[in-house]
Amino acid sequence: MTVVDDAVQQCRDLLDLLPAEALARAQERHPRVAGFAVFPVYAPVEIIHAAGLMPLGLFGVGNKLEITNADSRFQSFICSIAKSTLELFLRNEMKGFTGAVFSSICDVARNLASVAGRNAPGMYLEYLHLPQSSPTEACREFTRSEFRRFRDNLGARTGRPITDDAVARSLGLYNRVRALTRQLYQERRHRPGVLSAAELFTVAQACTRLMPEDAIPLLEDLAASLPMRKPVSRDCVRVVIEGSFCEQPPIELIEAIEAAGCHVVDDDLVVGWRLFRHDVPAGPDPVAALADAYVADSCYTSVRFNAAQPRTTGLLRRAKDAGADAVVFAAAKFCEPALLDYVLFRKALDEQGVPHLKIEFEEKMWTFDRLRTEVETFTESMLFE
Ligand code: SF4
Repeated sequence: MTVVDDAVQQCRDLLDLLPAEALARAQERHPRVAGFAVFPVYAPVEIIHAAGLMPLGLFGVGNKLEITNADSRFQSFICSIAKSTLELFLRNEMKGFTGAVFSSICDVARNLASVAGRNAPGMYLEYLHLPQSSPTEACREFTRSEFRRFRDNLGARTGRPITDDAVARSLGLYNRVRALTRQLYQERRHRPGVLSAAELFTVAQACTRLMPEDAIPLLEDLAASLPMRKPVSRDCVRVVIEGSFCEQPPIELIEAIEAAGCHVVDDDLVVGWRLFRHDVPAGPDPVAALADAYVADSCYTSVRFNAAQPRTTGLLRRAKDAGADAVVFAAAKFCEPALLDYVLFRKALDEQGVPHLKIEFEEKMWTFDRLRTEVETFTESMLFE
């Protein structure tokens, strides 16, 4: 097994665990650390890490848990991640976690935060109001105050004020994680086939279940090994995957897209954990620096409105920069932000003559043959037209 295969397998094993099991795995190396769950899309994980906690991505549970209780708290036409996340809280499966943070991405997440809070006595559940407007000075100030509120509440909860020095140190670590992840994305873009989309997705998601101190050497080993890896070469359509910014598709779905003849050259998978386009300089006030980066230096996502940078422009630019021939729009079932944006994206792509295909997924999908045939038909229509 090569270094890359071995690293990807370790990551896959980590993703097979429930959040509390993944935390227990981290505690083997960091015995005293408690967990703090981060519901997508974005939260300032640096503040959590600076509090001496382990930020851990809460991306639902896939096929690992039957939904037996959460169905009774929600309507049936709702995304899977909301139900499976609530199921974790209802079944007391968040042992070892001090709390969790949700944010204002959609009505579902808003309701989920409060229903989970009522069913998790003793845990600190925070709801971040992230700005939904253009990057104005007011927006910047609002975000700074919101991040400071979170820092102060979390410090009060752990009984230890969170210092600027601690946030700056954590920011340095997460800057490194994001820079290495960007490097892997670049490598895949320039040498498609050297690292499959399923492999990169596995690694990026697994890093949300690692302390940054442990993610960095894993990513460094990968980055150092990739130049020696021979790309798999075959006739493929270069595609961008869009629409998976919150609930994550099963890895098998990404594998099916690739097996159907696509080279994925960019995507918005796990985007909240690699949101910033550049390193964030800590400066004298690292919490303010994080807030400013959120307002002015984040990638576009469907859960943010920015009149200065419409999301349709963001997608067209992403496709162009990646040299993509087409866009595969992969959205979670019943995800309103994604499906509403699809209407705008489709119009913009049609106007620019960019071929596109829409597929939907949910956590409990277990057969991918029909979807693979759909993507195959799409890619063959482009390759052999
Ligand atoms: S998957 Fe979509 S609808 Fe569900 S919580 Fe996330 S953004 Fe909201």
